[in-house]
Amino acid sequence: MKKRPFIVANWKMNKTISECVDFVEEFLPLVSMVEDVDVALAPPFTSLTAVARALGPGRVSLAAQNMHWEESGAFTGEISPVMLRDAGCGYVIIGHSERRQYFGEGEGEVSRKVASALREGLVPILCVGETLGEREYGKTFEVVERQLRGALDGIVLESGAELVVAYEPVWAIGTGKTATPEEAQEVHHFIRGLLANIFGSESAGNTRILYGGSVKPDNAASLMGMADIDGGLVGGASLQPESFARIVKFRG
Ligand code: PEP
Repeated sequence: MKKRPFIVANWKMNKTISECVDFVEEFLPLVSMVEDVDVALAPPFTSLTAVARALGPGRVSLAAQNMHWEESGAFTGEISPVMLRDAGCGYVIIGHSERRQYFGEGEGEVSRKVASALREGLVPILCVGETLGEREYGKTFEVVERQLRGALDGIVLESGAELVVAYEPVWAIGTGKTATPEEAQEVHHFIRGLLANIFGSESAGNTRILYGGSVKPDNAASLMGMADIDGGLVGGASLQPESFARIVKFRG
C-alpha cells in the first residue's frame, strides 16, 4: 500500500530570517486544505527558531540541513542534535551530496550522524545517490548500496518509520535534469530491497524513500505515482511558496 507522501523543502544556504518567515506566512494558507501529505521545511540554522515559531503547532514540520554527531563539546562552528531538538526540529538531512562533495563528508561521518540523530529522537533523512560518471559506468547500484550499507552499519531500527532515505542522483540536483519516473523507481525499488535485507521487509515497508533532483510542480505527480517513491526532497523549486505549494498539492 502507498505510504503517506512526505515532501521536504531544502533551502540550502538561502534566505534570511525575515525571508524564511515571509515564506511560511505565504505558504501555510496555500496548503491549509492538504491533509494527506506530510511536509517539512529545512531552512538554514539561523532561521530554525523563527521558522518553528512561524509554523506553530501545525502540521508542517521543521528539519535541519546537517548536524554534528556529538551532543556538545569543543567543535567550533558545529550544531548538535540536542540543539536541533531544542530548536524544534523533528528531522535532519544527513549526507547530502553537497556535503559529501564540498565538505569532504565521508561514510564514517555520515554513519555517526545517522546513529546520533536516531539516538536523540530526530528522524534522519539519509541522502544517497550516484554521480553522472558513476551512472555512465553502470555503477549506480554499487554506489547506492555502498553508501546505504555504510551509513546504516550497526543501526537498529524500531519500526523503520524513524528513518527516511532520499535517493538523489547527483547529476539531477540543481541541473534541471530529472531522472525519469521509471529510472527513479528502479533505484527506489533496489533501495527498498536493500533495506529489507538489512532490517527485514516489514521495517523496509515502513521507511519512506524520497526522490530528489530537480523535482518541479510539473513532474511531481508522475514521480510520486511510482510504487516505491514516497515523496520528494526539493531544492530550487522549494524556494518560492507558490511553486513548493504546487508540489505539495501534486495530486491536484
Ligand atoms: C537537493 O538539493 O536536495 C535538490 C534535490 O535540489 P534541486 O531540487 O534543486 O535539484
